[in-house]
Amino acid sequence: MHKLLTDSPGTKMLLLGNEAIARGAMEAGVAFATCYPGTPSSEIPEQFFNISKETDLYFEYSTNEKVAMEVAAGAAVSGLRTIVTMKHVGLNVAADPLMTLAYTGVNAGMVIINADDPSLFSSQNEQDNRFYARLSGLPMLEPTNVQEMKDVTVHAFELSEALKLPVIIRTTTRLAHIRGPVVLDEMKPRKRAGYFEKNPFHFVTVPAVSRKLHGLLLERDEKAKEMAKDFPYNEVIGDGKWGVVANGVSVNYVKDAVSDLGIADRVRILKLGMTWPLNKTYIADFLRSVEKVLVVEELEPVLENDLKVIAQENGITVPIEGKGVGRLSRLYEYDPRMVREAVAAYFGIDYTSTPPVDVSDLPELPARPPNLCPGCPHRATYYAVKQVYGNVDSIRPTDIGCYTLGLLPPISMADFVICMGSSVSSGCGFATATDQKVVSFIGDSTFFHSGITGLINAVHNNHKFTLVILDNGTTAMTGHQPHPGMDASPMGFDWPQISVEDVVRGCGVKDVHVVKPFNLKKTIEAVRAAYEYDGISVIISKEICPLFAKSIGKARKGRPFTVDQEKCKNHRDCLNLLACPAMFLDGEQVQIDKNLCIGCSVCAQVCPENAIKPLK
Ligand code: SF4
Ligand code: SF4
Repeated sequence: MHKLLTDSPGTKMLLLGNEAIARGAMEAGVAFATCYPGTPSSEIPEQFFNISKETDLYFEYSTNEKVAMEVAAGAAVSGLRTIVTMKHVGLNVAADPLMTLAYTGVNAGMVIINADDPSLFSSQNEQDNRFYARLSGLPMLEPTNVQEMKDVTVHAFELSEALKLPVIIRTTTRLAHIRGPVVLDEMKPRKRAGYFEKNPFHFVTVPAVSRKLHGLLLERDEKAKEMAKDFPYNEVIGDGKWGVVANGVSVNYVKDAVSDLGIADRVRILKLGMTWPLNKTYIADFLRSVEKVLVVEELEPVLENDLKVIAQENGITVPIEGKGVGRLSRLYEYDPRMVREAVAAYFGIDYTSTPPVDVSDLPELPARPPNLCPGCPHRATYYAVKQVYGNVDSIRPTDIGCYTLGLLPPISMADFVICMGSSVSSGCGFATATDQKVVSFIGDSTFFHSGITGLINAVHNNHKFTLVILDNGTTAMTGHQPHPGMDASPMGFDWPQISVEDVVRGCGVKDVHVVKPFNLKKTIEAVRAAYEYDGISVIISKEICPLFAKSIGKARKGRPFTVDQEKCKNHRDCLNLLACPAMFLDGEQVQIDKNLCIGCSVCAQVCPENAIKPLK
């Protein structure tokens, strides 16, 4: 049985923050879950995926976040408790349905999990999605530890039903990926059969209907503000004349800081678990109770500005500061040391930060930039494309996925990326705006996510470039989740597999090449043919991700390769042009680590001396 199905109230379990959210949803009787995976949220849907194999919980990996939001909306207005999960940039994709779903509201608890990524550990930006709560008018809850990740999730369903609005839970990477003890509660039964009561004058958002609904949203917002006053995860901790306001993981840093600095008896901490909407009376009361206030919040000065407005409206002159105190800035995630320094500086506590451990006498570690794995088929495809485009003045837009790592030398095949699907659409722009050749790269999951619309645009508007779809049969970067184009039979599912090639042809592309990238000669021929085609051409480079293949028992059977030192002329084309991480220099000799090599044979094809052979 999946551990999150343990039906034993009072049991204490060590859970990852993301697991705690999934458990909270189960305790709340969630019946319907959708997502598009994205770090730092990916472990949440992973739990639902596995739980759905054992229960009647409906779960799907949707093609993108907008679709996930819309599928979930259908279930939530039909009366099922529903959860939808995504990372922060995913909410940009889902913003369109989000904004109008706030108008229609829902008929059963709907919780939207949004995982922000301060410090951009695995993201293309570090936007602060607290603005989405303010933009959409939806309540936002922010847990501060793993126990609260569960409890707040349960509460979010209740709040959603009380307000008839979706509720957003915002987490950050630090919370999503810490482990902590969690006391389990009982599981509510799941209501699995929904029914949609038709009401076109509420749910069909033509202008006349939406004018009325906007007013309804504001009424619900007022009700939410009232409820924020007694929200159980808003809390004033301690007593004293100095005030600190914090949210999310920063609450823990503040608690530690006041304790470490010995000022716990002088500080009142306002921990805000509901960061939108704010109850102005509750906050004004807090501001009146202290002489000065420090706001500790990662990223943007959202609460700081709100507090200043509330103070001004209430004639409260207490100083309020946040950004710019010590090292508190709008950049990156905070840590305990910087919060301790800021608290000490702001309240005039004599404190000298412990100097960091002196490691200056240690030899510098070699840089380990992220790299495509040994035997990654993307490396072979990039090599083939480079053979054709190497000396041509060309632009190579890429996309979000493992293949973004093609950025690094010696591959150096990434010139532009802004978001999922952008390689295709920006390729249209580059091809039309410049005289340079354009070759774009996108993965299979990303193609289904949002590459298709760009491709249709390319065909319809007669943009001329080559799109390479790197089809490795899975959503590799986030942990091998399924997508519509994968063969799910090895995983025990009989989901229909949607052919990338059929979709590409269906979009109207006439010049389509399907290649196996480990066959370099044929792949290079296909790239050359596409290069010469006067129009939009697509190369589908199909080879399963070797790590995924291993996880489903489909790993290559071939032997690892080795360098015949007799034949090797040591000019290092293999290293300088391909650089598979299984290859290394032993003194002056090129060698292959047989434990890393998957036997793809690409290096053997690159070596002009035929010096690389399968190990006997
Ligand atoms: S390409 Fe072949 S000959 Fe050249 S260094 Fe590599 S293994 Fe040796
Ligand atoms: S055969 Fe060559 S390219 Fe393929 S994994 Fe082994 S060392 Fe790397």
